[in-house]
Amino acid sequence: MSNLAAQDNAALTSPPILQYHPQFKQIGPRDIILQADDEARLCFHFDLARLLPISSFFADLANPLPSDLIDNTPLYPLIDTTSAGLALFLSAIESLSSAEPFRTKQSISGPPLAQIVLEAALIGRRYDTPVITRLLCELQPHDPMQDMETRLAMPFALWALAGVADQIADAARATARCDTFDIINIPSYMFDILQNWVPVHWMGLQGLHLRRASAGSRFYQACLSTRPSRFRACEACEAGGVDGAEIFGREAYHAYSARDMEALLKRGLGISCRECRGSLEEVLRVQLAWFREFTQKYDFVTSYAQWIARFR
Ligand SMILES: [Zn+2]
Repeated sequence: MSNLAAQDNAALTSPPILQYHPQFKQIGPRDIILQADDEARLCFHFDLARLLPISSFFADLANPLPSDLIDNTPLYPLIDTTSAGLALFLSAIESLSSAEPFRTKQSISGPPLAQIVLEAALIGRRYDTPVITRLLCELQPHDPMQDMETRLAMPFALWALAGVADQIADAARATARCDTFDIINIPSYMFDILQNWVPVHWMGLQGLHLRRASAGSRFYQACLSTRPSRFRACEACEAGGVDGAEIFGREAYHAYSARDMEALLKRGLGISCRECRGSLEEVLRVQLAWFREFTQKYDFVTSYAQWIARFR
């Protein structure tokens, strides 16, 4: 056998050299080895007993084959995991047995913490560990590096990846309630993950924000279609020539988005007379109810024409 062939044989039979994450280098008596599948392929010693009660994936793990053993410790490569995401995921699981709330530091180099949080959430989704969502939600507000869009869209992304319907809707509405939130400013890594893993929820969130962008002018059109002429000013206003419907109409014409219109509604429809305001709100009762649903519901919402048909 040539020297070269002998070297090749040695490379084939010798165990691979594993790189361990510094925090998970130490091996404990019941540990297994988990390996990320990104370029770094970092390995993590972890106590399997900690994963069994919280993950049906790990609870159903098949017995290791002899070829899976590294010095008698089974090694499980976890597909679709990043090394940073797996480190955060396992740190979060470790925190379950600590009295302290789960915290982690933003690393100076590497991807932003919010991206690693999403990678850890994906591991929880793939390996059926639902508790991770709550732990990551708790961690989230303590990251000072975040911009508005990341901070508000993150709970939505975490609950969407976990598939918890009520929480998804609440988180979606929270993004819509914020005056300065702009969906086009969410970070690209979050956009990619939402689009690839939970496209229906991502479409739902976009739908909500698209609707809100046009809601002001749609509401204005809906108001016109209801014959605002049904409105009668109070005696004092009528005598003074003050027409509440006209005042509201003038301002509403320029309120294109839900935000603009909501501000106008908050200012009492721009009408200072209490009695007239009450009368106009009564005339526009159905339109106002539709506007609230159209701008706040995280779900498929019908057009005004379809919606009004229910009342006929
Ligand atoms: Zn009046």
